[in-house]
Amino acid sequence: MKTNAIRISEYGGPEVLEFREIDLPELQPGEARIRHTAIGLNFIDTYHRSGLYPMPLPTGLGSEAAGIVEAVANDVSSVKVGDRVVYTGRPTDSYSEIRNFDANQLVPIPNEISDEQAAAILLKGLTAWYLLRKSYEVKSGDNILLYAAAGGVGLIACQWASHLGANIIGVVSTDQKAELAQSHGCNQIIMANENIPEKVMSYTNNEGVAAVYDSIGRDTFFSSLDSLRPHGVMVTFGNASGPVDPFAPAELAKRHSLYVTRPILADFISQRDNLLLASRELFDLVKNGIIKININQKYALKDTAQAHRDLESRKTTGSTILLP
Ligand code: NDP
Repeated sequence: MKTNAIRISEYGGPEVLEFREIDLPELQPGEARIRHTAIGLNFIDTYHRSGLYPMPLPTGLGSEAAGIVEAVANDVSSVKVGDRVVYTGRPTDSYSEIRNFDANQLVPIPNEISDEQAAAILLKGLTAWYLLRKSYEVKSGDNILLYAAAGGVGLIACQWASHLGANIIGVVSTDQKAELAQSHGCNQIIMANENIPEKVMSYTNNEGVAAVYDSIGRDTFFSSLDSLRPHGVMVTFGNASGPVDPFAPAELAKRHSLYVTRPILADFISQRDNLLLASRELFDLVKNGIIKININQKYALKDTAQAHRDLESRKTTGSTILLP
């Protein structure tokens, strides 16, 4: 059986993304075949493409998609043919029309949520879930600092943290992004080119924030540490500006006993029970109108290179999907 998919045979810029026909392998035990209807675009896809997170080449790309189950291996009972499902996980091959995937990682999509919405929020929403509920559990009244507040993870995290009662200080690069973040629950804004710790202290009575959710990485690491209150938690979870350089633990001591964690989503959803529990929590917030889904960009799958260019040049807001 044939399908069309993105392949890369070398690391590099968006130009290495190749859209072509490939052979679909036979279904293996434990797998389901999914015909994709919508594919989620995520910043991590650019790390896989550039080689920042190396993978054996050639490879497919993409860590999130929704679609219809077309076939299941004999031993699969968690899903059946015709089910609408969404998933996040490896191997990276969601930039494709049809693929085979581990049936245990498939999440049924509730009736109230469309395939496009599911593909726009699963990875980003589960990330917001573990950031705000597990990495540092936000309590009502906490001051928190959130970078890329108008981005994919950002807009969902703003709405979720606001629901939990946090005072959210969001960092963004444009006025339009500032407005968007504020209309999704962000209380105060810092522009990315401002002095971040100084602004944080002015917003928090010189206390600093309880937690920083930093997806920018190299450029903001020390500004983030300088924005924390004593015993505050630095959650460094992305590398939009490049990976964080090695640092001495003494940097945490001199800023009053800080904590640093470097989490990845996969570690919070590797058990199917946790995956389903977290997905249900996310979908319930969507169904109750607490989290609104912003699909602000759509591209044809064959135009994925343009989608990568726009994401990396900070042109996108909210979620982006690719359509097969
Ligand atoms: P976004 O939609 O948030 O896009 C990235 C945003 O980062 C940009 O819009 C931009 O917002 C900001 N940014 C700041 N500096 C740069 C830079 N130098 N280059 C490009 N963008 C920059 O992407 P996602 O929602 O897909 O992902 C957000 C972050 O979360 C990523 O860093 C990603 O790797 C991370 N992530 C981590 C996970 C984990 O488990 N560890 C899971 C999921 C995501 P602005 O212009 O407003 O500054």
